Amino acid sequence: MRPRAPDDPRAALPETAPRPSRRHAELGLAFYDVVEPARFPQAILRYRNRPWAERVGLGSLTDADWTRHFGRFEPLPGSFPEPLALRYHGHQFRSYNPDLGDGRGFLFAQLHDLADGRLLDLGTKGSGQTPWSRGADGRLTLKGGVREVLATAMLEALGVETSKSFSLIETGEALERGDEPSPTRSSVLVRLSHSHIRIGSFQRFLALGEPDTLARLLDHTITTYMPEIWKDALPDRAVAFLEAVSRRVARMGAQWMAAGFVHGVLNTDNINVTGESFDYGPWRFLPHFDPDFTAAYFDTNGLYSFGRQPEALFWNLSRLADCLLPLAEQPRLEAVLRGFGPHLQDAFATALFARFGLALAPEEPTHRFVGAFWRFLAESGAPFERVFFDWYGGRASEDRAQASPVAALYRAESFAPVRAALEALEAASPGRLAHPYFAGHAPCTLLIDEVEAIWAPIADRDDWSAFSDKLAAIAGMADAYGTGLEGPGPG
Ligand code: AMP
Ligand code: MG
Repeated sequence: MRPRAPDDPRAALPETAPRPSRRHAELGLAFYDVVEPARFPQAILRYRNRPWAERVGLGSLTDADWTRHFGRFEPLPGSFPEPLALRYHGHQFRSYNPDLGDGRGFLFAQLHDLADGRLLDLGTKGSGQTPWSRGADGRLTLKGGVREVLATAMLEALGVETSKSFSLIETGEALERGDEPSPTRSSVLVRLSHSHIRIGSFQRFLALGEPDTLARLLDHTITTYMPEIWKDALPDRAVAFLEAVSRRVARMGAQWMAAGFVHGVLNTDNINVTGESFDYGPWRFLPHFDPDFTAAYFDTNGLYSFGRQPEALFWNLSRLADCLLPLAEQPRLEAVLRGFGPHLQDAFATALFARFGLALAPEEPTHRFVGAFWRFLAESGAPFERVFFDWYGGRASEDRAQASPVAALYRAESFAPVRAALEALEAASPGRLAHPYFAGHAPCTLLIDEVEAIWAPIADRDDWSAFSDKLAAIAGMADAYGTGLEGPGPG
């Protein structure tokens, strides 16, 4: 943990005390509405994220205090006295919607990551109606909450930079939904995220014709989340910001592709400018490589299918560039956009090597491996996660791969180029293969049938054991990959 400077007024406090903030409120009322949380008939704690609670100094709360803050939203001392529903617009499936905004959530509190000092948000989903609810109930189904807890745990374990599920509390209401057998149970989720400023937050000020307020949001975002890119001239800042977001969004997209993840709803209001993946609705993991694999039943044209995610992110980034046109010269912004493809390629190689536990190699062998691997996945129809599991560490896993139930695929001709490419590559940390996870018979996965099989016993008889077992399995995988936080597993 970072030592405190001797002149820091907090130097007398223990390093594990929370460091709350009200930073977002400095933006003022043009950016949010002060709202009240819903009063729920019940508050049954279903999940608390112990490792991340420790990281923000809230690890020692009793369950009763936890429920007071994250089920009844009693303010966290030092942060906002009342929650803030954030205002934003966005393109949903490419149509512009000026009526978005936090319709069932709010920014509850801000506080710092005690390990690296980053400012983090505690934001909600399902905490009640706001001026942006558009007649809807402001609630989240319990199944929706369970799905987001599972998605975030899995993505974190697979090395994807994602918001964390911080708390899930069942709230005892009966909700009507078109996409779940109804009435269905209700919940309120609290997310821990690195900002909630979306591309849609910028689009709102473009649409309102308020370039000065837009510039204020730009400066707030830079100074709060990326101070290292600050430039004294406004046009230079705007260009540097687009470049930073482009790199971060490219990394996010690359990490999804290497995780076999389909987010499902890549609207501009679901893209955080810090490049942290968030807002998990109809997400799915791929069973096997399939560019047309689509997560959302309502995405009838496959706009946000697995293979089209990079294109969707690029389109969204272009909408952010539109917002910056009043502040910077068009050719400079366009030049930044042209860099997205190369950033994505680089980020994809980095993400793929990380997933395989391989040390990044010089350009040529890296590209050879990436190309060969992708072609193999497409030609063989191999189970996606299995291949990463079987070949973790590359050649060091040769014997494990030969013992795999899909070993025949590795003897096929389509695997020969992958094997040849692996010859030039080394494991990043060969010791990791000694982890019990790699001696298991199968990788940890989270395919749709598994998610449904976790939900069914909860719905039928309030049996949460499959949910806890999966979270424990995911924590084991995170431990093997070195992607999770240290400390006790979730529970
Ligand atoms: P999402 O699909 O969660 O990204 O939400 C898109 C927009 O619809 C956001 O403005 C949400 O706040 C709003 N929204 C979605 N579901 C509800 C609901 N049940 N009640 C109120 N607003 C909602
Ligand atoms: Mg959203």
